Amino acid sequence: MQNKLFVKNLSNKNPTKDITIDDIRYKIPKITTKKKIIVKVNNDIIFSPKNIPIIAGPNGVESRELIFKVAKFLKKKGVRVLRGHAFKPLTFPYRSKQYLESKFSGMDWLDEVKKYTKLAIVTEVTEIKYLDRICQTADILQIGSRNMANLELLKECARTNKTIILKRHYGASLRDMLGAAEHILLEGNNNLIMCERGITVPHTHRETSRFLLDIQAIVAMKELINYPIISDPSHASFWAPWVPKLTLASIAADCDGLIIEMHPRPEKSLVDPLQPLNFKEFSNLLIKCKKIAKAVNKKII
Ligand code: PEP
Ligand code: MN
Repeated sequence: MQNKLFVKNLSNKNPTKDITIDDIRYKIPKITTKKKIIVKVNNDIIFSPKNIPIIAGPNGVESRELIFKVAKFLKKKGVRVLRGHAFKPLTFPYRSKQYLESKFSGMDWLDEVKKYTKLAIVTEVTEIKYLDRICQTADILQIGSRNMANLELLKECARTNKTIILKRHYGASLRDMLGAAEHILLEGNNNLIMCERGITVPHTHRETSRFLLDIQAIVAMKELINYPIISDPSHASFWAPWVPKLTLASIAADCDGLIIEMHPRPEKSLVDPLQPLNFKEFSNLLIKCKKIAKAVNKKII
């Protein structure tokens, strides 16, 4: 009996692991639509199978000075989307003495920098109560890994009709993630971008690396969905020296966009100082990204 079951599962006619045909039919029909999907943030920023928009910036909007410095640099480099969080969930509740979320002041700095540089803004929504303020400035709302399955938050964000980046929870299967995405789509918001950002596994090959970038998830999701799938090698590896190669590997694996954390002085970053690239490292990476993108018929924007 046991043997028969084993053979049946191996035969793959009735897959019982991960996503089944019934799931696609009844549980996640919208996220797995066969329709072509293009997510247009504005005329310059289009997530499509041809483009790889780069989203870059510091972890937190630490100060007005920092966000202006980074934004001006990115603008010069031709990057179109700035990331930076004014509201930030941290894994542990004890914030370092200097680090306070900049919250509403941070949103005001993002607003100023957006007007000055015309960069689009990605910032994280941690609570529904901040959503109105965030929407006044943000072009793209980020749902962080820790909130992937916070369904009320997802639905409220979806109702704004803003573009949403849904980050995969570090312990979630693709089935869980596609389920969360379906909640967003069911609200009538199709401006959805999926983000692989690293998962928890027993071995990450370095003491400081908390997660492992699941490149296979990008490839696997491509079989199932047409929504853009972006990669965040910074949060996955937690280690700046690994970020460039993981970024290039993500492009080779057909990702549709990238989130890269950077900081003028990474060692001074108030959160996760091991993970941001400095300006020079970022510039070098950008050159390589363009080459790999060309090899897979895509364009870095
Ligand atoms: C972030 O983008 O700064 C972040 C905290 O990401 P994640 O939710 O993937 O940890
Ligand atoms: Mn972060």
